[in-house]
Amino acid sequence: MKVYKFGGASVRDADGIRNLGRIIARETSDVAVVVSAMGKTTNALERVVNALWLRETEQMEREWQLIVDYHREIQSKLGVEVEIRMPDAPVSFDNYDELYDQVVSYGELLSTRIVSAYLTRVGIRNRWLDMTRLLRTDATFRAAQVDYPTTERLIQDVFRYRPTAEYANRAKISVLQGFIGGTGDGRRTTLGREGSDYTAALVGSVLNADSVTIWKDVPGILTADPRKDPNAKLIPILSYEDAERLAESGAQIIHRKTIFPLEHKAIPLYVKPFLDPDAAGSIICKTNQKLNMPVQWGK
Ligand code: ASP
Ligand code: MG
Repeated sequence: MKVYKFGGASVRDADGIRNLGRIIARETSDVAVVVSAMGKTTNALERVVNALWLRETEQMEREWQLIVDYHREIQSKLGVEVEIRMPDAPVSFDNYDELYDQVVSYGELLSTRIVSAYLTRVGIRNRWLDMTRLLRTDATFRAAQVDYPTTERLIQDVFRYRPTAEYANRAKISVLQGFIGGTGDGRRTTLGREGSDYTAALVGSVLNADSVTIWKDVPGILTADPRKDPNAKLIPILSYEDAERLAESGAQIIHRKTIFPLEHKAIPLYVKPFLDPDAAGSIICKTNQKLNMPVQWGK
């Protein structure tokens, strides 16, 4: 089985989700599809939290309405309908970080509902999974620490399901949220901004996946930020160690926690352009090859 991760930029509009559908439709093996919140939804939800926190009701409602309108428009273009409603925040208002996680996690819960409904609509059978039950963390809100053994057991259990007859001989597609998790007592948590890559790596690791692929709006891992340097070059192959060093140096390539769970099991990580799925992209794997290109990423 494989793990695919689609970031916010890849699912920021209806075309992006259609493209995701085309990529999944080509698959013959089982895929766990990890999806981020659409476009800049996480930032928008942060504004909702801030307004909530400050009890600025009108401001909060305005910000919330923008999120609703944005998702409704995408849904209508895709011909799907998913209920959108303010996440209930069953928490006291005395812990900002806890309130943040209850609200901000909604971006991924909603994006995955829409993606799942769209896949169903175009005839790709799939199931939606709730990572607030499957990715177990402690209660360090906004920077939750993953309880790996419990997560491993929970995720392996749901992937051990017996396919019904109509599912047999088909690739089994599961759609799940990046970035979010939950505590044992059911409170939602988040792993830190841009944490969806890390989720994909964890899922790949606990399921002993054949590979993990991060689909991005760039050709792969580049030697520099392409927005700043037009001569940025693609790095075709990287060792886990070099990738880790790059991520730690502030390169906006992959979340820095992504490498370890994969390195640990020698699972290859591909970074590929989602608009050109046949392109080779970059591969991070066990290799003796050293990075021999000048790299200009930096904080
Ligand atoms: N949606 C979250 C964020 O924007 C997680 C992610 O995109 O990886 O930080
Ligand atoms: Mg995001």
